[in-house]
Amino acid sequence: MIVITQPNATEEQIERIVTRVREFGLEAQISRGASRVIIGVIGPEALLREKPIAAMAGVEAIIPVLKPYKLAARDSRGASSVAIGDVRLGEHEDVVLICGPCSVESREQIQSIATMVKESGAKILRGGAFKPRTSPYSFQGLREEGLRFLAEARAKTGLPVVTEVMDARDLSMIERYADCLQVGTRNMHNFSLLKEVGRSRLPVLLKRGFSATIYDLMMSAEYILNEGNSNVVLCERGIRTFETAARYTLDLSAVPILKSKTHLPVIVDPTHALGLREFVPQMSLAAVAAGADALMIEVHDSPELAKSDGNQALTPEIFAELVPRLSAVAAAIGRAL
Ligand code: PEP
Ligand code: MN
Repeated sequence: MIVITQPNATEEQIERIVTRVREFGLEAQISRGASRVIIGVIGPEALLREKPIAAMAGVEAIIPVLKPYKLAARDSRGASSVAIGDVRLGEHEDVVLICGPCSVESREQIQSIATMVKESGAKILRGGAFKPRTSPYSFQGLREEGLRFLAEARAKTGLPVVTEVMDARDLSMIERYADCLQVGTRNMHNFSLLKEVGRSRLPVLLKRGFSATIYDLMMSAEYILNEGNSNVVLCERGIRTFETAARYTLDLSAVPILKSKTHLPVIVDPTHALGLREFVPQMSLAAVAAGADALMIEVHDSPELAKSDGNQALTPEIFAELVPRLSAVAAAIGRAL
């Protein structure tokens, strides 16, 4: 950490800052410029991070040297890959398609959609059994019955299953059925849930909060990693901006930025970002071009009857037509699908 003093800082103020730094067992190296003093703090920076040095009289700015997301940060080891069931996600792996309905609605529904998306090239099945709905009067999910149907669809198709956990009290039940835990956009800041999934043996698909910065997302991943779970996948799913033409604004720049800052796989959910079926194919293609390691796309065989998010689900036919185009874009950037 580097402390920069104000131009008019007094010797007494500088002395107090240096004393404070040394009180924490850290070394202070003082460099005097023409109008300012720069104090280089040597030693474990975390010791000082929570201490209000910035609030001390005479301090103008503090510049941290280390990244606060030390476990998520990209270092010399480069990109990591995360296994969901037997499917690997990461920069050095093929681009993966994670597909399925918004909600699990019945045994037949999830089995038939799972079979269709698998035939078209999906490698992982998604489906919600616990649904975070805006209205408490909307369909809330089939809960354990939905999890059972997902596990049956996995047994039938071989596709590993990702499903959302909204409440830590449901975690052990969900762990019995799923291959990956999804933390949804509304829970990205739920730090107690993040700590709980951080203690799970299952990988975690962490969605970006719709009002969260890239930094916030990385710090939420850090909560999970810090509990010992190293299998975290980051998902851009659209953020809230002044634009109202789509449900959210898909921030595709988050993909290369996250990849430059973290070693974790980065995926994109164009479905929830747009909320409109019509534009999901274009943004799926763009997401692959931007370097996404996987896409999460909602597919429903009768969107007009869907219990949630029918407006945005692709039909199995539209999805099947999209897959070869995604392959072509992946090939153009030197990847396979
Ligand atoms: C979902 O994937 O079903 C979902 C609710 O997504 P999000 O948390 O991104 O809204
Ligand atoms: Mn949905």
